[in-house]
Amino acid sequence: MMNSENRNAAAIRALLRENIRNIVPYSTARDDCKARMEIYLDANESPFDNGVNRYPSPHQPELKKRLSVLKGIREENIFLGNGSDEPIDLVFRLFCPPGESSMVQITPTYGMYRVAAEINDVEVIDSPLGPDFSLDASSLLGKIREDTKVIFLCSPNNPSGNLLDRDEILKILDNFGGITVVDEAYIDFSGAESLAGLVEKYPGLIVLQTLSKAWGMAGLRIGMAVADRNIVDIMSRIKYPYNISVPDQTRAAELLSDPFRTMDRVALLVKERERMSRILGTLPCVDKVWHSDANFLLVKFFRKDDVFSDLAEHGIIVRDRSSAHNCEGCLRITVGTPEENDRLLSVLGWENPETSYTGVPDTADRTASCSRKTGETSVIVRVNLDRFRRPEIATGLHFFDHMLEQIGFHAGITLDVVCFGDLETDDHHTIEDVAIALGECFYSALGDKAGIGRYGFSLPMDEAEAAVLLDLGGRTDFRWDVTFAGDRTGDVSTQMFPHFFKSLAEHLKCNLHIRASGENDHHIIEGVFKAFARALRQAVERSTSGTSVPSSKGSL
Ligand SMILES: *Cc1c(COP(=O)(O)O)cnc(C)c1O
Repeated sequence: MMNSENRNAAAIRALLRENIRNIVPYSTARDDCKARMEIYLDANESPFDNGVNRYPSPHQPELKKRLSVLKGIREENIFLGNGSDEPIDLVFRLFCPPGESSMVQITPTYGMYRVAAEINDVEVIDSPLGPDFSLDASSLLGKIREDTKVIFLCSPNNPSGNLLDRDEILKILDNFGGITVVDEAYIDFSGAESLAGLVEKYPGLIVLQTLSKAWGMAGLRIGMAVADRNIVDIMSRIKYPYNISVPDQTRAAELLSDPFRTMDRVALLVKERERMSRILGTLPCVDKVWHSDANFLLVKFFRKDDVFSDLAEHGIIVRDRSSAHNCEGCLRITVGTPEENDRLLSVLGWENPETSYTGVPDTADRTASCSRKTGETSVIVRVNLDRFRRPEIATGLHFFDHMLEQIGFHAGITLDVVCFGDLETDDHHTIEDVAIALGECFYSALGDKAGIGRYGFSLPMDEAEAAVLLDLGGRTDFRWDVTFAGDRTGDVSTQMFPHFFKSLAEHLKCNLHIRASGENDHHIIEGVFKAFARALRQAVERSTSGTSVPSSKGSL
């Protein structure tokens, strides 16, 4: 019997062009040799170090490691290309015999799919989106021919800006046996969940993402395909070996190490998108503003040529998409900085310049951010004790992420944690260093925590029960009375949980007593994290009188 792993491999093999199936890739001596070398005389490089005298890694391990943590995707499912253009072109080269195959794409959509198809002599079949740019799976599936190897979807779509309905995409995946590409270049602006988590369920699914948009690295040219391991392997085998340069890999890894900056900028752009959309809708020159889940707006003007040249005269360039299907009279406007957007709006006749950007946090909020870098890990933690927002957690350990999210949700605070750690060794450093950074960050956000500070919370979690006592009075003490049945919970070793809370208590300089019992380890530890979060919530609550002295309500 075939397991699903082999089944996926066989299914993908069957989809490949015949000549590709048997290709032996170009290999480098460094690929073949696993041990660490000191002297490199294998590649005819210059031996004189100027920062770029060596060939780059063909496998980009550092970049993949960071993206894997940030996206919650296994490294083996990530292919990195020279922009998204490279995986788009590779899809045709892998799966579409030139001159005898076709692809189906939605329309209107991104122009590169057609360009790459035509270069590879693959016929393009257009499947128009509905009048509101919605996807109708059955109408698209009706366009498929015997020789159709690939379907291209783009969600949020360019130029229309809208997310495609997830259920309609799933209908296509369930009914098409070839390759389905879903381009998620703008997914970070949408708030929607990526389809990348489904690549193991659907071996024909390839999800494209890029560092060019939300991540602000268009100049580096780095695109990403997330797919079944077998597709990633074959893409890696036929790409140009050194497709991402040394400076590009280094710079991208650097920029990825500060994901909070990106998150803030994305939040600002989303706010600006909504503001612009609202204001544009009131302007007499505007016929219609389409709903957008991306960082641009498709806007229909009554006299779009006049608007275009008016903007150009004021030094503002936008994209004319009026020739695309269902886009008559439409310009596509990228969301810029608040000042840039104000200038565009005032050229278009907006007479009420308000400085409406309100993304600046309330300065009275108790916030802190801490970063911590060791040989093994690099951690950033950020908290705002006075404002709840969906936690953003990425440590590469899924179960641990889930537990940290419980702290954010149940304490009702903002908690963001990113950690790049040596998970290939084990989970020890990641969990310990997150605990330390978290403790320091809470401590510094609490500031002058005058007054008493003893809080407790006890809760049932199915058959399990957990109780947490927390005393922020300044003395450090830690007690742990919890027994687990197994060695691991999810992808975390259970012995790391007492270690986590102990390190946290030391760095938060608090007295922390934890007691829990039950039959199911998952329930026990989830109960502990939730009870801790609830105790913390009481501890950080401001009294109703508005001072920063914690309320004594809820003390023991
Ligand atoms: C901008 C964009 C990309 C990104 O292309 P890169 O080559 O990665 O810069 C991909 N897909 C769509 C639909 C885009 O609009």
